[in-house]
Amino acid sequence: MTVTVLSEVAAGAEDLSVWPASTQRLPHGGLAVGGVSLAEVADRFETPAYVLDEGEVRGRCRTYQDAFPAADVLYAAKAFLSRAMVRWVREEGLGLDVCSAGELELAVTAGFPPERIVLHGNAKSPRDLEAALRLGVGRIVIDGPSEIARIAAAVGPEGHQKVMVRVVPGVSAGGHDKIRTGTDDQKFGLSLTDGGAQHAISRILGQPQLELTGLHCHIGSQITEVKPYLVALRRMVGLMARIRDTHGVVLSELDMGGGHGIAYRPGEPALDLTALARRLRAELHRGCAAARLTIPRLLIEPGRAVVGPAGVAVYRVLAVKHTGEKVFVAVDGGMSDNPRPALYGVRYAPRLIGRASTAGCRTATVVGRHCEAGDVLAADVELPGDIHPGDLLAVPVAGAYQLSMASGYNLVGRPAVVAVHQGSARLLVRRETLDDFRSRDIGD
Ligand SMILES: *Cc1c(COP(=O)(O)O)cnc(C)c1O
Repeated sequence: MTVTVLSEVAAGAEDLSVWPASTQRLPHGGLAVGGVSLAEVADRFETPAYVLDEGEVRGRCRTYQDAFPAADVLYAAKAFLSRAMVRWVREEGLGLDVCSAGELELAVTAGFPPERIVLHGNAKSPRDLEAALRLGVGRIVIDGPSEIARIAAAVGPEGHQKVMVRVVPGVSAGGHDKIRTGTDDQKFGLSLTDGGAQHAISRILGQPQLELTGLHCHIGSQITEVKPYLVALRRMVGLMARIRDTHGVVLSELDMGGGHGIAYRPGEPALDLTALARRLRAELHRGCAAARLTIPRLLIEPGRAVVGPAGVAVYRVLAVKHTGEKVFVAVDGGMSDNPRPALYGVRYAPRLIGRASTAGCRTATVVGRHCEAGDVLAADVELPGDIHPGDLLAVPVAGAYQLSMASGYNLVGRPAVVAVHQGSARLLVRRETLDDFRSRDIGD
């Protein structure tokens, strides 16, 4: 009986399939990513620390470039952005997708060519538009009817700006209600079914300073099947054909957005990028041939699938509490650095690192240090029974939508971000300190 449990446990603990490809086991229960021991990172940079494997990010960019050689691949900055990330993405030849003046300015001041940037947003502020026009972004994606006159006025009669239109194709897909964006009951885009998209398009075509280059859609996030993309693509090609028939305009670009799903725990499905690329291309060729349309250039905008699997969150255990049937393992971070479990009910697979344990595993719930009962990082996971304060826990697949959604809750401070690559570690973003909070707090 005991033997069975231990071997099952050992098998589960040893499954590194969702970890960065560079992950190596070290003696005495250690784990290295990018050639650097995670326990050493914790000692040197303190915890919580977010470790980003530069090689994994670059490798994922290359996988996209190889799978989609004829498309423009734009990294969706909102998944995670820092100056180093901007450089890696630029050096790998990707474009960038941003949704605020902040993301845009950070990218451009870090050397990203503005013409390779696309600006999104369902509610663009005056500052967003001002920055976009001043810096010369490649495309602005129009998300609602009121933006048309606003952007045209901001561009001015002598000006010129390339724009796209975000269309809601009426496809429901994605890992959670809060991240499904392909249907008419959510805030993004212009509807295909009620004619809102068609109406907006004719108005844009009537603005000489706006050049409509193509259509955009983004149907959701954490999508693991190819089919919804094909359905969306068919509808977008249908709309492109109608635009040609009505206005005599052949649009040259089709942006199918991002949303490519990844595995957060061993055994979970991920979107097959090779299959996505092959079937999108086939469907595009078939649809365009049937409608006698020139084949538009394809754009895609992956965020999560570029950076998610490249990140590992490293926490130190602060307390272990046994209450009734439950074991709570509390760490020195939580919902302020990772709000995703509370927002979307996402599940993670944390792992003890930095020491070997021969104790059998038991079911425990990893919680954060914040003052909310909902501050749960990983419910009902298997961890060694002898886990104790001072231990290190690492959570793989922590690179996307964690730090970018981090908050100042409880003034704990946002964690440090450390890049690991070919055996060395360097600080990318320093830990937020009390001085940072104090310096913003200027009233009394
Ligand atoms: C969020 C977003 C993406 C990226 O989504 P992922 O799920 O991270 O791939 C791409 N395009 C748009 C318009 C988005 O809003």
